[in-house]
Amino acid sequence: MKAPQFQKWFSGLTLLNQPQRSRVQQALLPAAGLDQVIALIDTVRAAGRRCPSCDGAACHRHGHANNLQRYRCRACGRTFNDLSGTPLARLRLKGKWLDYVAALLDSAPVRPAAERVGVHRNTAFRWRHRFLHWVKLDRPQRLTGIVEADETFLLESQKGSRKLDRPARRRGGRAKRPGISRELDCILVARDRSGQTIDAVTGRGALTAAQLTRHLLPKLDRQALLVSDANAAYRAFANKHRLNHQAVNLAAGERVRRSMAVIIHVQNVNAYHARLHQWLAPFRGVASRYLPNYLGWRWALDMGRIATVEQLFSIVISHIYMKR
Ligand SMILES: [Zn+2]
Repeated sequence: MKAPQFQKWFSGLTLLNQPQRSRVQQALLPAAGLDQVIALIDTVRAAGRRCPSCDGAACHRHGHANNLQRYRCRACGRTFNDLSGTPLARLRLKGKWLDYVAALLDSAPVRPAAERVGVHRNTAFRWRHRFLHWVKLDRPQRLTGIVEADETFLLESQKGSRKLDRPARRRGGRAKRPGISRELDCILVARDRSGQTIDAVTGRGALTAAQLTRHLLPKLDRQALLVSDANAAYRAFANKHRLNHQAVNLAAGERVRRSMAVIIHVQNVNAYHARLHQWLAPFRGVASRYLPNYLGWRWALDMGRIATVEQLFSIVISHIYMKR
């Protein structure tokens, strides 16, 4: 719209009644969301814009496309925008992204998130995997000091799979056999007393020392004191790798024990399990193959580690996940 024409249109705004103002506001909302997301992308990228093909830092502006500035790399000559190489490249409906990020922060399941943001549920589902692609890599390098480890179980689920490798369970369902069986996915969680946490889906059924070697050993500081319950797998694992280890005998009613100046318990890791199960409940059964993503999502939100739309969105677009 040309400037004089806009002036005339704009001065007419004062004549609107309340329902009309409300309609104009509604009509501008997607545009406001778009402006906001574009500004945020620019802020995050401006500091260190690099060519996603050759990592060159020198580039110049090269037109616009899809509401984004394009750039041309001086070194390799390829063009890119601020989302090239990120999980959000070529994703549509930018004006709705920040609302969607807010839904992720609120741990909204797919359907409620879709309704809230105003997209199809397939879109909400696809977006979840794009926006949460980074969470699998977001884990501490090392657990140090006193490290509590314990496993928890979830009913194995083939939700969304076309072929089941076992008879179907009636809606939701529960395990046929009591106790720990191959019907359950085992989730190992280890947490040190500074709150650094790792998790792993170790497989179906009871935890083994070999699985601890695979999933816990690479993250465990060799000077750490490993604390577990009386499960023999931890003892075997600790003996094999000559780790400091203390066990609390929960089965015998022992919850907390003192050893020298150290208070031995697994209450931090058990509280983490409790938060995980409570958080998973509204999702009404999580497909086993997506479990690692959910664990990562949970860790991102744990104790408000990632708490704002801007913070979460910045992480999503800082995470380059493919070379073109
Ligand atoms: Zn380049």
